[in-house]
Amino acid sequence: MAADPLSVASDPFRQLDELLPTPTVYRTASGQPGHQYWQQQADYRIQVTLDDANQSLSGKETIHYQNHSPDRLRYLWVALDQNKFRQDSLANRMRTVDVAREGDQANRIDMGSYRRALKTQTHPAGVTLSLVADGQGQPLPYTVVDTMMRVDLAAPLEPGQSTDLTIHWQYQIHEQKALGGRSGYEYFERDDNYLYEVAQWFPRMAVYSDAHGWHNKPFLRHGEFTLEFGNYDVSITVPADHIVSATGQLTNPQQVLTETQRQRLQRAKTADKPIKIITLDEALANEKRRATANKTWRFKAENVRDFAWASSRKFLWDAQGFKQGGTDTLAMSFYPEEATPLWDQYSTAAIIHTLGVYNRYSFDYPYPVAISVNGPVGGMEYPMISFNGPRPEINKEDRSDRTWSRRTKYGLITVIIHEVGHNYFPMIVNSDERQWTWMDEGINTFVQYLAEQSWEADYPSKGGEPRHITGYMKSDGQVPIMSNSESILQFGNNAYSKPATALNILRETILGRDLFDFAFREYAERWKFKRPMPADFFRTMEDASGVDLDWFWRGWFYTTDHVDISIDDVRQFSVNTQDPDIESQWQRQQEQDKPETITDRRNQGMSRFTDGKPELFDFYNEHDKFTATNADRNTYREDLDKLEPFERELLKDDHTVYLLDFSNRGGLVMPILLELSYDDGSREHLTLPAEIWVKNASQVTSMLIRPKDKQLTQVVVDPHWQTADVDTSNNHFPRQIQPSRLQLFKEKKKKNMMQKHREALKGATEDKGHS
Ligand SMILES: [Zn+2]
Repeated sequence: MAADPLSVASDPFRQLDELLPTPTVYRTASGQPGHQYWQQQADYRIQVTLDDANQSLSGKETIHYQNHSPDRLRYLWVALDQNKFRQDSLANRMRTVDVAREGDQANRIDMGSYRRALKTQTHPAGVTLSLVADGQGQPLPYTVVDTMMRVDLAAPLEPGQSTDLTIHWQYQIHEQKALGGRSGYEYFERDDNYLYEVAQWFPRMAVYSDAHGWHNKPFLRHGEFTLEFGNYDVSITVPADHIVSATGQLTNPQQVLTETQRQRLQRAKTADKPIKIITLDEALANEKRRATANKTWRFKAENVRDFAWASSRKFLWDAQGFKQGGTDTLAMSFYPEEATPLWDQYSTAAIIHTLGVYNRYSFDYPYPVAISVNGPVGGMEYPMISFNGPRPEINKEDRSDRTWSRRTKYGLITVIIHEVGHNYFPMIVNSDERQWTWMDEGINTFVQYLAEQSWEADYPSKGGEPRHITGYMKSDGQVPIMSNSESILQFGNNAYSKPATALNILRETILGRDLFDFAFREYAERWKFKRPMPADFFRTMEDASGVDLDWFWRGWFYTTDHVDISIDDVRQFSVNTQDPDIESQWQRQQEQDKPETITDRRNQGMSRFTDGKPELFDFYNEHDKFTATNADRNTYREDLDKLEPFERELLKDDHTVYLLDFSNRGGLVMPILLELSYDDGSREHLTLPAEIWVKNASQVTSMLIRPKDKQLTQVVVDPHWQTADVDTSNNHFPRQIQPSRLQLFKEKKKKNMMQKHREALKGATEDKGHS
C-alpha cells in the first residue's frame, strides 16, 4: 500500500511543496506578493432609501470596475447575498434537521430552529432587480445563479480597461432574531421602534483573482465573503429622526447633525474618555418622535472592501478619539437604551484597547472611524463598523435591574475586541472567508487573545491557552483546519480556537515571541490591502522566522492528530570500567541488593545435608561466581593497551547516564519540554526540539549525562501545559497519583400523581385566602 502523504505516521516532516500551490509571478515562494501581483478594483456610488414603515430597502448603484488582471473578461460576477434568505436558496434547501428517533431527546426540535424554518416559508426574501445596465444605461443580459449573478458584457473587458455597471434593486429586510444571519432589524415593542443593522445589502462585485479566477461560490452559511477593495460614496436616506452609523466618514454633518452634536463630536476627538454625542435622555426623547420627512446621510470610505450601516431613532451615541503612530481615528458606539449602562462603560473603551493592541502586532489602523453598534446581531464585522449583541438584564415592567452577569460583561468586551479586530483580518488583510474560515477567524482570534490578556490580569479568554483546546483535540468528528468553510465540523473549535491556540503555541513555545512577532507582522504588512492565500501565510512565517515549520503546518493545519507525548521509561547507567575487580564487585553488590526470596527467608537456619561434612566443599564454595581471576586481569590489561588514551579516559568516566524513552501517542509531533528534578533539590528545564521525531515519529530515546552527585528523581513532560498535550497522566516519570473528587449522589424520589394533585389544590386555596 502506498504511504498516505498526509499520514503523520509516514513522515510528519515531509515538506509541504506538493500540497502548496506552485509559486507564480503573482505570489512568490517566499510568501510575499509577486512582482506582477494584481487585484481588481471596484468603486461604488450608491443611493439607498430605508422604508421604515415596511422595513424594506431600495437602492441604485454604479460600480466602476477596473480590470487590472492580465485576462480578458467577457462577463462579470456580482454577489446578491440577500438571495440566501429566499425559500428556494441553496442554503435553505441544503439545511438538515437533527431530530432523534429514540431516547430522551426523541421527537424534539428547539423553538429557534422551528421558528426559522417556519419564517423561511413566509418571508418575502431575495433581491428584486429592476435594472442591470452598463454606464450608459443600456440594459445588460444577466443570469442569477442562487446568490450570484453573471452579467454578460456587451464587449469583453480587456486587461487595463474599466467599465461601469448600474444596478437598481430592492429587498425586504428580515427580522434578525427570527431568521438569523449577519444583519437584519430588531423590533422594540415598548416604544414601537425598529433598529436596523444593514449589511450585505447591495450588489457587490465578486472577486476575480490570480489564485481562483472568479470567486463565485454561493453564499451558504459559514463561508462569509471575499470582496474587492474600492472607494465608496454612499447616500443613505432614512426618516429624519433616525441616526445613521456607517462605514466611512460622514461628509454632510451640517445637514444631518445638530450644532450641539457637531460640537460634542469635535470635543470627543481629543477627549480622554468617551463623550456623549446623544445622551440617554435625548435618545429616550428621540424614541417618541415620528418624523414624516426624510434626511440623507452621505458617507465616503476609501480603500475598503465592503460597506455596512445601522439606523434607528433609538441610538445613544458616544465617541472618543484615538491617535497612535499612523492611526488617527474616532472610536464610536451606537446603542439603544436597552444596552445602558453596560455599553456606556465598556464599548468605546474596548474599541480603543483593540486598536492599540492590533496596531502593535500588525499595522496601524488606517481608517477615520471605528464603530461598535448594539442591535440584534450577536457579533459581526464590516469595515470600520461592527455589530455586537450583549446587553444587561432589564426588568420588563419598570425598566430597572440593569445588572449583568460575568459572562455578559466579558462576552461584550470579548466580542467587541473580536469584531473590531476583524478590521485587520480580513477587512484589510483580505483573505477569502468563503474558502478558508481560519484565515480570518483563527488569525483574528489569536490577536484577540493577546488583546484580552492585556485588558486585565486573569481575563477569561476562551481561545489561545493550550489547555483549553485539549478536549476538542481528542474529540471525535474532526476535520483538519485546512477544510473549506462549509465542510467544517465543530466550527468554533476548528476555525477559531484551534488555529488561535496553534499560533499561540508557535509564538510561546516554537519560535519565541521575538521571532514570531517579527514574522507575523511581516505577514500583515505584506498582505494588507491585498489578498493572501493560506500558502502565503505559511511561507511568510517560515521566510521571516528562518525556521522550517512545514511539520507544524502539516500537523496542526492539515491533520486531526493531537499531542500526547508520554515518558515511558527512564533507564539509569554508569560506565562499565571493564576492570574485572571493580565490575565483579559491582555485580556482587547488585546480586546482594536483590530482595531475599521467600523460600530463602523461610529456609534460613534450616539444617542442610552438608552441615558438618567439610569433605563436600571445594574451590567453588570459597569463591563465588563474581570472583575476578588473574586471567581476567591479564586480559583487561591487554585490552587497555590496545585502546587510545582518550578511550581509556572514557572507561574511567563516572557520570550518570540516563536514557529517557518517549512515545508519541497522539501523532502530532511537538518539542518535548522537560522539567528534571534532582536529589539535591535542584530543577532543570530542557527542550528537545520537535525535530527529535524526524526519523521515528512514534518512539524516541534521548540520552542525558549528568554528574554522579546529581541523581535524577523525577522527569515531567510539558510541566507548564504549553503543547496542548491531551493526556497529562503519562507526563510524569515515575507516574503520579492524581487526586480527584468522588461525587456521591442519591436518586430523587418523584412525586406521584395524587401528591401533585393535592399540592395544586392546596396552592389554589392559599391564593384565594390572600386575595
Ligand atoms: Zn469573527
